[in-house]
Amino acid sequence: MTLPSECLICHQWPGPALCESCILNFAQPRARCQLCALPGADPVCSACRATPPVWDACLCAVDYGYPWQACVARLKFQGELGLAKSLGQLIRHAPWVERALEQATCLLPMPLSDQRLRERGYNQALLLARSLRQGLKIPLPVHWLQKWRDTPAQSELARDERLRNVAGSFSLAPSHRHRLRNARVVLVDDVMTTGASLQAACQVLRHAGVAHITTLVLARTNAPGAGPSEKS
Ligand SMILES: [Zn+2]
Ligand SMILES: [Zn+2]
Repeated sequence: MTLPSECLICHQWPGPALCESCILNFAQPRARCQLCALPGADPVCSACRATPPVWDACLCAVDYGYPWQACVARLKFQGELGLAKSLGQLIRHAPWVERALEQATCLLPMPLSDQRLRERGYNQALLLARSLRQGLKIPLPVHWLQKWRDTPAQSELARDERLRNVAGSFSLAPSHRHRLRNARVVLVDDVMTTGASLQAACQVLRHAGVAHITTLVLARTNAPGAGPSEKS
């Protein structure tokens, strides 16, 4: 028997896991930079014009703050895996996401290191990617992109240091590398803070000859480095 669900924000019961009024109140689309998804600059912010990221487009559904910060924590640290379904659907309804998914030849979740995966037991980015992919036929290979080491918390470091810190943390499974040549990849993660980890992962994809990369996250902190930490 399945119990009727309640809204994970306002707890209206029975009802969908994200009720209409909460979506209306807290998930309104905003103008965002097409390259870093920071709000306010459409199409591209001055920072991205000066130093464009490795990827071609960045999409996000909501700001990382009330109430989404708590939702992410419940998914990521409290084992409420069922939330991935609703949060994935929320991402899917964000502007341009459906189009990015339709054009993608491959959907990749941001990987966790083996150690983190063992501690947590699941990869929240993979759960979101699975939810995003419902009804679509895009391949979602889980082991192609790998993270082979954890890096110290990012929040204390300056931007250059962060990039150096994560450079070389990601790699591609050698036997699948060739499949990414000329691919259009959508790389999925839960939260983007500085984007340093995503940059490092995208560099690896670029070296493999990926033609187009969209980074797609549920939530974006409003200022680089504004998140609590970049614990993956
Ligand atoms: Zn609600
Ligand atoms: Zn930007």
